[in-house]
Amino acid sequence: MTVNFQQLAVTGVQSLQPYQPGKPIDELARELGLNEADIVKLASNENPLGPSPKALAAAQAALTDMTLYPDGAGFVLKKALCDKLGIQPQQIVLGNGSSDILDFITRVFVNDGDNVVTSQHAFAIYGLVAKMVGAECINVPAKNFGHDLDAMAAAINDRTRIVFVTNPNNPTGTWLKKDELVAFLNKVPAQVLVLLDEAYFEYVQEADYPDGIQLLPQYPNLIIARTFSKAYGLAALRVGYSVSSPELADLMNRVRPPFNVNSVALAAAAAALADDDYVARSVAENTAGMQQLTNAFAAMNLSYIPSVGNFIAFKVPAGVKAMDVYNQLLGKGVIVRPVGNYEMPDYLRVSIGTAAENTAFIHALQAVLS
Ligand SMILES: *Cc1c(COP(=O)(O)O)cnc(C)c1O
Repeated sequence: MTVNFQQLAVTGVQSLQPYQPGKPIDELARELGLNEADIVKLASNENPLGPSPKALAAAQAALTDMTLYPDGAGFVLKKALCDKLGIQPQQIVLGNGSSDILDFITRVFVNDGDNVVTSQHAFAIYGLVAKMVGAECINVPAKNFGHDLDAMAAAINDRTRIVFVTNPNNPTGTWLKKDELVAFLNKVPAQVLVLLDEAYFEYVQEADYPDGIQLLPQYPNLIIARTFSKAYGLAALRVGYSVSSPELADLMNRVRPPFNVNSVALAAAAAALADDDYVARSVAENTAGMQQLTNAFAAMNLSYIPSVGNFIAFKVPAGVKAMDVYNQLLGKGVIVRPVGNYEMPDYLRVSIGTAAENTAFIHALQAVLS
């Protein structure tokens, strides 16, 4: 008898579409017969500067102890986070990337038949983790590509357990001002959690951009998620964290696998956190690169969504298919990100690279569109 394992999978998993990551450099190099050094990857919002020298040294030193299990409590990293952020260790949950946090919070609070609320064009992982536990993900239509917070508050019903808010949002780069966010938090029922995803927090320069951690004392239902994958330049090591009330952190720590963050990652993240100079250089490079790309888009008459992150979504010209542009860019060794699965079929998202990478992308795009 043949077994249909499809039918044995839990209901949510049966209809799940796996997350589509950016194309890896070595994969494209194999396909094109190119050297990896000739490929420009601007597809996953990684830090183009390479790692902080301090983080790299800490990671190398930590390798010596690789026969030992990591510190499951992450004492050193939590201490560094507390010193930096003015919080208590009991408020922190460490994740193998902040994607881990999104999974924990959902598994702790969302039952089969419940729902979570998020925005159209928001990060795909929210829908994935919700469906995994058999919940519905309500995607509220966006306003000018950003979150429509009034509509999101109105979409909350008695089965809603979590609202996912991304500030700034990926892949659109749109952001929420402090007064908008506070007005929204005031409307959310006390028993509905708000997961505020601040993956790009360090990049944002706007004066009225809110720091979610400052809002925690007033909103016990609020959880802030941050990551070392973007401005801190440690995407490969997989480290993220949440900050919340100790009560919520305790619940999430119950489902966290005991050694989910490895020792190399713990050491590198603590060192990266202390390297303010690296983050400042990363932000300055990003600001310059953003200007370089928006100037080029304007010169090419391409419309784009103004972004405060380290990426920007631009629209392909009428009559041109975004996937064709994506594929032709690949042929020239430039990897960007299609966002059709984010209901943006006419857009491509490009991460801000170094000046040289941005130039390579602009030249390739000009050639493809000419
Ligand atoms: C990149 C990103 C993350 C972080 O992912 P990690 O698992 O920490 O690498 C989280 N949320 C959003 C919106 C992102 O774009």
